[in-house]
Amino acid sequence: MKLGTKLIHAGVAPDPSTGAIMTPIFQTSTYVQTAPGQHKGYEYARTQNPTRDALQDALAAVENGTHGISFGSGLAATDAVMKLLSPGNEVIASSDLYGGTYRIFTKVFERYGIKFHFINMQDAQQIKAHINANTKLIWIETPTNPLLNIIDIAACAQIARQNNLLLCVDNTFASPYLQNPLDLGADIVVHSATKYIGGHSDVVHGVVIVKQDDLAQQLYFIQNSCGAVPGPQDCFLVLRGLKTLHVRMQRHCENGVEVAHFLRNHPKVEKVYWAGFEDHPNHDIAKKQMRGFGGMMSFTLKNDSLEAANKVLSNTKLFSLAESLGGVESLIGHPASMTHASIPREERIKNGLADSLIRLSVGIEDAEDLIADLKKAIEL
Ligand SMILES: *Cc1c(COP(=O)(O)O)cnc(C)c1O
Repeated sequence: MKLGTKLIHAGVAPDPSTGAIMTPIFQTSTYVQTAPGQHKGYEYARTQNPTRDALQDALAAVENGTHGISFGSGLAATDAVMKLLSPGNEVIASSDLYGGTYRIFTKVFERYGIKFHFINMQDAQQIKAHINANTKLIWIETPTNPLLNIIDIAACAQIARQNNLLLCVDNTFASPYLQNPLDLGADIVVHSATKYIGGHSDVVHGVVIVKQDDLAQQLYFIQNSCGAVPGPQDCFLVLRGLKTLHVRMQRHCENGVEVAHFLRNHPKVEKVYWAGFEDHPNHDIAKKQMRGFGGMMSFTLKNDSLEAANKVLSNTKLFSLAESLGGVESLIGHPASMTHASIPREERIKNGLADSLIRLSVGIEDAEDLIADLKKAIEL
């Protein structure tokens, strides 16, 4: 089955009691047993819920995995993956990470005796120098946030396999429409389904997808033991969002092409960060592992000051100034003062994150209107 068909049909079946075509929201905490231990496979809703089951099966199918395990947020999914590890274990992570991921690694899991090495992985071979007998996991995010660098998933997977390590890919930015890390050799995929998978900025949700039974059993155990499960209404919303992922992503990609080229040709714009340009340093890897370049991009202004950036950020009308990404509506953000404000300025500049860097999540409105909105704000 191809992706569009899977997005609509995988995991779901008409409700057997009524024929309802849409999976009902099973808003229940427990299930009646006919005699002790005699039940229909559902005992208590932290452990199993039919709405969640449908979503988990659908998510597994669209990432070409065998098991999807859902959580109350993307970070709860990350938390579950880290709980596969034990004190003394080491993780090699890409340095260009979602801020919340960096925070849970350094502020939570370091306290539990897990050691992290944050390195630039644009050349995957750099990973090898940091592997030792305690290393258990490689964690990457690609494309990266907010500089849209690309990491070679297959190259990382090969290094992981040769050294008996797990490779986990945060696939939030690409979504299953653009990239399937399990097919490229990754062991674990995580998503913040809050973003493209949900797609409508109305739910916070996370998922871990694997294709190995032993990993799945450990993760189900963690899901049930630690309890960061999503509610059934949220599962319903994500399932509903998932059905249009391919149609939305197609438009995100089309609009992304238009907006990226408009920005690149604008005299007040210094640089546009988007892997679709042929001269992007990792364009070849992006072309190899992705089916399109998506709607996320960043740009800097020739006038590299906070004031100049603020003027653009405060004057777009269709692009709303907000954190998050991946919804149908366009968003504009300022990493230096918003998502990446916790990183000291010197460190930010060193990593290539300029004060005037502006990040866009290009939505699925009409490209002409989006471009007119940006043009007006940039030229003000
Ligand atoms: C938002 C985000 C997360 C965290 O997900 P939540 O659903 O907000 O907990 C993780 N990784 C990336 C790349 C994200 O954009």
